[in-house]
Amino acid sequence: MARPANPAGVTAWRAADKEVVMADAENRGQDRGTSPLGRRQFLGTLAALPVAAMAQEGPPVSDPVEKMTAPARPAIALNHLGFRPHAGRKVLVVKAPPPGVTPPREFTLRDVVTPFRFRRPLTLAAESDLGPCLTADFSDLDRPALYQITVGDEHSVQFAIRDDVWRRTLPKAVGYYRYQRCGVEVPGVHPACHLDDARRRDNGQHVDVTGGWHDAGDLRKWMDVTMLNGIALLNLMRNIPEPRPGDVSHEQILEEVHFGNRYFLKMQDTDGKIWADTAGGVNGDNSDNHWTDNVIGTADDRYLNTEKRSDVAAVFVTLEALAAQGYSRSDAAYARQCLDAGLRAWNAFGAPQTTLELAWWAMATCELFRATQDPVHRRHAALIGRDLVERQNRSFIAEQKQVRGFWMDGNQPYVEVVYSALPPLALLTLSETFPDAPDRNRWLDAVKLHLDEYLFPMSQRSAYGIVPLGLFLGEYAQMPHTVKEPTPESYRIIDGRLLYRYFMPTRKQFWWLGTTSHLEGNALLLARSAQLCPDRAKACVELAYRQLEWVMGANPFAACLMTGEGMRNPYPHSRFVGLIPGGIMNGIAGNAADQPILDMDYELDWRTGEYWSPHVAFYIWANSVLENVAA
Ligand SMILES: [Zn+2]
Repeated sequence: MARPANPAGVTAWRAADKEVVMADAENRGQDRGTSPLGRRQFLGTLAALPVAAMAQEGPPVSDPVEKMTAPARPAIALNHLGFRPHAGRKVLVVKAPPPGVTPPREFTLRDVVTPFRFRRPLTLAAESDLGPCLTADFSDLDRPALYQITVGDEHSVQFAIRDDVWRRTLPKAVGYYRYQRCGVEVPGVHPACHLDDARRRDNGQHVDVTGGWHDAGDLRKWMDVTMLNGIALLNLMRNIPEPRPGDVSHEQILEEVHFGNRYFLKMQDTDGKIWADTAGGVNGDNSDNHWTDNVIGTADDRYLNTEKRSDVAAVFVTLEALAAQGYSRSDAAYARQCLDAGLRAWNAFGAPQTTLELAWWAMATCELFRATQDPVHRRHAALIGRDLVERQNRSFIAEQKQVRGFWMDGNQPYVEVVYSALPPLALLTLSETFPDAPDRNRWLDAVKLHLDEYLFPMSQRSAYGIVPLGLFLGEYAQMPHTVKEPTPESYRIIDGRLLYRYFMPTRKQFWWLGTTSHLEGNALLLARSAQLCPDRAKACVELAYRQLEWVMGANPFAACLMTGEGMRNPYPHSRFVGLIPGGIMNGIAGNAADQPILDMDYELDWRTGEYWSPHVAFYIWANSVLENVAA
């Protein structure tokens, strides 16, 4: 992703309120993202390496992408969990059969216990980007029971209509983090590990950075994405203030966050800045992704990446300010420790540069204000909010008049596979935190424009209702009206030079992956929009659930992407501990033609099958909001 050095709209917002203490020139360079730091940046450094280089051992594996497209059957795409009686829509999607085969005209729905059943017609969707489909809406059915749908001779999984179909999965998702604990024995999973983390990359000195969570299907400890776990857990606590029997208890949440946060606090340098990762890989390789002998000073010690990046710091501040609030009753001294760490990190950084940094600093500023009530954060929020609004495209660009209201990063549309929805999410958080801010209506209007003229219309382009990954700018070729794509593969055309894809380009760089976090992040944005834009609440809730339903089975593979729920789960790319209940996979990606692919053949393809922390975090966070707004 392009990271503009100093795009228009970023003002010296920090300098307006207090003196900026910038670090040395080297660190300023790092603040602009010039070094490979995060998981995605790490992957970006592998562009020249063959697929097999991702693995530490074993023979090269062939790229199975074209074997991974969706088969004609199963044709029924239905969320495996089921539906809440009165929240969201109940939509059945059925892939249309190949040309020459008569499509089914109806479906049967039956209660699996009682004689209750009905038949209803299926309608051929006028157009659907992801293949021709038949659809039916049975939202009027609100009778709690277990059901099954039959189309021709194909049965759906058994699914429920019940108010807790999503809520009851949250303990399983939260339980994922325990499996990922590092530095301790996890009974039945692994003995105590990585007690020798880590030695500094720059000078080789040992620093105690034991603990934290392994991020994914590997053993590395990236900061930003694993801190997102803590942010999601503390938001779960905030959004479900009075847990019911069967819910995750606040005590469990606080214990899990406390465990992870021991590591995060150790990752703060004496200057207040935040180190980027432990064991992320040296020289852009995968060499640190291994078990160790737990003995400090031996050859297998992993490396601490001491680089310091602004967006990582903003995530840190957000987490620590949330922790300050979350522990204020149960452990005031610890709450104070977290707040002090957050304030030190906030003081250490200058103005955000990229759209992603700006959005994270907005989130951080909101949580700092909630934790301190210090008016300095209110003033900063106003400046950050203004800059975030300025980065939205309010006019039509690229010779088309169909969509606008999306965000830009420099001169390109903002496309981020993990933090896809963060800019408008940050504006909603500003609006909630500062209800009397002079610019509050501007912030909300920006989000409404994004909903009305981007998210809603774009999600209607397929029968599945999912939000495409993002927009791309093409260039006019020699021939009039011929558009050259940014990479040599298929893009879908909106109009003019504005293109879109549902899935990441596969020929831009070596690394690309499924869009689970993108969809769940948009589910969170839509759920928060339902809270803060009441006149659009119904449509927002409906669309939020469509994003989550794709992840949980309403997709062209009829595959549930969470281990331990639903059916037809791919076997995860989880090379060190295998199955983790509640783990959610990178999910469905696309091929060069932007058609969905998923590894259902045990190829251990990381791009679609690997567990990543953000998928679990956004799942928890989005559902916790939906439990509030869609009651
Ligand atoms: Zn470990």
